[in-house]
Amino acid sequence: MTDQLAEKIEKLKNQRNAIILAHNYQPGEIQDIADFTGDSLGLSVEAARTQADVIVFCGVRFMAETAAILSPQKTVLLPDKLAGCPLADMITAEQLKELKGRHPDALVVCYVNSSAEVKAESDYCCTSSNAVEVVNSLSSDKQIIFVPDKHLGRFVIQETSRDLILWPGYCTTHIAITERDIKKAKTDYPDAVVMVHPECSEPVKDLADEVLSTGQMLKFAARSDATKFVIGTEMGMIHALKKIRPDAEFLPASERGICPNMKRITLDKVLWSLEDMQFVVAVPDEIAEKARKSLDRMVQILPAR
Ligand code: SF4
Repeated sequence: MTDQLAEKIEKLKNQRNAIILAHNYQPGEIQDIADFTGDSLGLSVEAARTQADVIVFCGVRFMAETAAILSPQKTVLLPDKLAGCPLADMITAEQLKELKGRHPDALVVCYVNSSAEVKAESDYCCTSSNAVEVVNSLSSDKQIIFVPDKHLGRFVIQETSRDLILWPGYCTTHIAITERDIKKAKTDYPDAVVMVHPECSEPVKDLADEVLSTGQMLKFAARSDATKFVIGTEMGMIHALKKIRPDAEFLPASERGICPNMKRITLDKVLWSLEDMQFVVAVPDEIAEKARKSLDRMVQILPAR
């Protein structure tokens, strides 16, 4: 069944001159049919440079919006219109404007996990791969507002020694991974390398061996001599890691590390999406133009590791 669906998708994809982009948190069978899998930064770069007419974005809404902003002449499809991101929904453009009003001289750095409207109100966008580099690139005499993820923000504060103005947003999936999970994993697998995502809580990050974005986890695992890893991020990552290190064992830090929004995308929905050309994600020109400036700055700043 999976093979038949994959064949139909491939055929239709070629007819439509489409490309399938999938985030590292997507279900394994979606990652397997994608033309490109990666983290938000890698997917943004790919969306900007692809020659395809249609981008099928297997991820959540803010990612499809980002692709639409970077490739305005292409049709961007999100196979499930309800695939959103609770973290991105934790700040609105109005709330950001109000915060800017209280700190009129501050620069705004927004995490890519935010709406197009919030990006349009920001000076710089960043991903978890390059947040540290983006903040380090800004003049040290400038105040910086960082939205919406407070946990990524605290990680950036620690790495840069800059005093950021944070917004109290968080990822509902990553905070479900607890300090207790990590302590247990370390006891159960004392020889494993514990890698966690910067969206995790501070006690979890303090206990981990490495704090890495998903793209950085892939690079780290590819280079590492270790053969056992505990993974503190969304479960889909384990599929991506196994592909590049089939000899190694990857264990989830917690069975609760599942993003229900990422898992809304299925092979059936990808096929329907290409058949019906749904659901088109478009961003109004005026917002896209402003948001593109903050995204362009992000795409140019690559992570150091
Ligand atoms: S894992 Fe968290 S940040 Fe990523 S899409 Fe899901 S809710 Fe949003």
